Amino acid sequence: LARATALITELVEGRAEEWDQAGLLPSDLLGKLGPVLCAQVATEHGGLGLSSRDNGELTAHTGSLCGSVRSVMTSQGMAAWTIQRLGDPAQRARLLPRLTGGELAAVAFSEPGAGSDLSAMTTRIHDDGGSVVLAGRKVWVTGGHYADLIVVFGRYGDGGAAVVVPANAPGVRVRRIPDPLGCRAAGHAEVELDSVRLPADSLLGGAGQSLSLLVTSALTYGRLSVAWGCAGMLRGCLAAATSHARSRSQFGKPLADHQLVSGHLGRLLIAEQVSARVCEHASDHWDSGSPDVVMTTVLAKHVSAVNAAAGASTAAQVLASAGAHAGSPVARAYRDAKLMEIIEGTNELCLVMLAGHALSGAS
Ligand code: FAD
Repeated sequence: LARATALITELVEGRAEEWDQAGLLPSDLLGKLGPVLCAQVATEHGGLGLSSRDNGELTAHTGSLCGSVRSVMTSQGMAAWTIQRLGDPAQRARLLPRLTGGELAAVAFSEPGAGSDLSAMTTRIHDDGGSVVLAGRKVWVTGGHYADLIVVFGRYGDGGAAVVVPANAPGVRVRRIPDPLGCRAAGHAEVELDSVRLPADSLLGGAGQSLSLLVTSALTYGRLSVAWGCAGMLRGCLAAATSHARSRSQFGKPLADHQLVSGHLGRLLIAEQVSARVCEHASDHWDSGSPDVVMTTVLAKHVSAVNAAAGASTAAQVLASAGAHAGSPVARAYRDAKLMEIIEGTNELCLVMLAGHALSGAS
């Protein structure tokens, strides 16, 4: 963990503003991060074999420095987890070392008509002789612009399936989404799949199972990663706000000595600490193999995303004009954090799931 954290610091610290403004990450950066982007992959496949808790800390550290790199890390980790979870031993042995070796992967669920309601997916996957064939259109694929491989979810018979699609396969068209609100260098893309024909072993295991079951497994990783990223974003906001409140004086004393400003700092600390605790709680469930990981992860994602959006707004208030330019870390966090309330299950969908859990009497 310490070496991975140091590598992120070395390659990412102090550069997020430049990447955010350019809307792109440098082409060599992601390859250099290799196993660090999917650090829970087992060492036998070239990964670091980190626990969810340690990977969470790494994700938070990355999130405190750059929301775009953290977003790509979430996608890469989610792709690796999906291959680990659904792939057979031969698929794992073939594909996971590619990801830990520096190739990039993204995950595609969403479609123009299927956002919160993924059961409305229309992308079709079917077997044809010795091949598997995909047709459909995916939107908002984080990291899609950089991806060598795209894990595509779609309908397969009466159920669902996931296929590992090379981004350069005939019939695949990837178009970068220009100028997103936040995480501007995360390479969000639309992906068109025009009768893409691939070898049958591109189809991951579990094909034909319930689509929602397959998707929930992948999303659980993604939600926990986003939650940890939000905790990190809050750390970055707290550091920027406290440093500014100490160094800037108005009315003859540091901002921090004005009680209304120190109230902002206190609330930011609460947001950061509470987010970290719910993330640790969910990761502990992941690491112990508890079935409660699904619900504790939804809880962590909701709490952390709401706290990050509110906390980034609070930090921007403390910095006032000093944070009011596009490149300021708090302005970046303000834009990035809003998106965290939308992705991997919106705030509303998380509430619906939590309410369902409460109503089932399971809590
Ligand atoms: P809609 O589903 O149209 O929802 C609009 C509003 O209605 C929301 O507020 C929603 O909460 C609310 N709503 C909808 N249904 C209900 C309901 N039943 N009850 C209450 N409220 C409801 N997708 C991928 O597949 N891969 C990715 O890597 C990926 N990355 C993304 C990155 C970013 C920056 C963004 C913005 C999106 C990304 N997405 C990705 C897509 C993301 O998962 C969807 O945007 C998200 O699920 C919401 O879908 P939608 O935008 O279509 O909103």
